[in-house]
Parts: sequence; C-alpha cells; structure tokens
Amino acid sequence: MAPVKSRTLGVIAALVALPTAAAVIPGRLDAATTSWRSARTAGTGTTATLVRVNVTTARDDPSAANTDAMRAPGRRRLRGATCTNPGAGTNAYSLEGWRVSGPTTAHLNPAGGPAGAASVFQAAFNTWKAADANVPTISVMSDSSVSHQQADHKDELMFASLSGRNLAVTYTWSWGGGVYESDTVFNTNVAFFIAPGEGDGCYEGVTKYDLQDVATHEFGHTYGLDHVSAAFNTMAPTATLGETYKRSLASGDAAGLRRIY
Ligand SMILES: [Zn+2]
Repeated sequence: MAPVKSRTLGVIAALVALPTAAAVIPGRLDAATTSWRSARTAGTGTTATLVRVNVTTARDDPSAANTDAMRAPGRRRLRGATCTNPGAGTNAYSLEGWRVSGPTTAHLNPAGGPAGAASVFQAAFNTWKAADANVPTISVMSDSSVSHQQADHKDELMFASLSGRNLAVTYTWSWGGGVYESDTVFNTNVAFFIAPGEGDGCYEGVTKYDLQDVATHEFGHTYGLDHVSAAFNTMAPTATLGETYKRSLASGDAAGLRRIY
C-alpha cells in the first residue's frame, strides 16, 4: 500500500517538501498566486482550488550552459553533459491523490519552445498510456490562445520565463467531484534539445536538457504521480544536462500508475 498524501497539505507544504532551497516559485508567477487559488468560472458556478505546484529543478545551473555572451560573470561554464549513464530504477512510487478521469486534450501553445515540441509532448503522454491500458489518452493539440497557467477546465502546456533552476512547473487544480486540471509551464530560459532517442540514457557532450525527458516527468504529475527519491526513476524531482533516461518508466513509475488506474 503506497502512502497517499493528504489533500489538505496545500501549496506551502508542497513547496516545503521540495528537495532544494532553489526550488522556488518565480516572483512573476508568485504575484498572481492568490488569483489562481480560487478561480470562478462563469457559467459553471464551481470553484477550482490549486492543490499542488510541482517544480522540477536542474541539478546543474542552467545559466552555466548558456553561451559565453549570455552567461553571468563568474559562473562556471559547463563544457559537457552532467548526466551519467543511469543505474537501475526502483519500485518506489508516491501518489498525488488525483487521477485523469477520462480521455482529454492538452492545449499547447508552442511559442517559445523548440520545433517539434508537440510531437515530443504527445510521445511523453503516450509513454504513460502504454504502461497501463486503463490510462486515459491525452491528445496534444496546438492552441495559440494558451497564455498562462490558469484554472479553466483545460489542461494547458506552454513555454514561459521561469527563474532559477526551474526546468518546468506543473500546477494542478481540483474542481471538486474528482475533476482535476493540470497545466505545465516549461522554462524558456533553459536550453532544451530534443534527443533523437533515449540512447543509453545520457547524451554526453550535450549541455542542454532533453525536452521529452522533462515532459515525461511532468506528465507523470498530470496522471497523478508524486516525486520519489529514487534517482533513476522518471518521477525523480531533478534532471541533469544531456539525460534522457526519464523518457522510459522505471518499475515504480509503472507500478504507481497501475495503482491509480
Ligand atoms: Zn516533478
């Protein structure tokens, strides 16, 4: 029996539980937090509550991977990937307490992201779907009207400026009655690339983050999985330059999914 986190912990507890002090919500976003916590949608009369903010952080300093012209003075320049070939995953998993209730659509604004993001995101959702026949399909569609994370009954994907070592942030709201919404923001200040495949789990020499690696992790949150400390599971909370191993699920990632669905 896996532990199920209390739904009453809220955002503060979620942030406290994060593994590094650097994992903070960007100030630009923080200022609007109050309005996300309770969003009233005209016509439905229902209110959404922000139940979790999951932040995926870089184990490296992303700014150190930028070009010389862009990097901050005094920062160490990374000259190669910091990933290592992955070890074995574990059976560990942790559940968020929500599930995707049926087939749905993820609305993607591809602006600011690398070419091919839509197919990468679809592949990332499909990885979870492939692990359990009961997992609802999530279909990615382009939607240029997506501008920021908000509780609006649409799962939304976008690229925007996040601070610090944040690679991506997934916000999840509860609408009550088992209805949830998750929006994911990928950081435009981070150099993403799309590896041609998972390979051996680490692209040595690439000082960028694999978008599918990070997306597969984020969409684990969408489907209802929380972080685990097992470094080589997809639900490990940090990522390194050049790593791709999160693209495929560890035994615990799949076991957690089957537990939910
Ligand atoms: Zn995460």
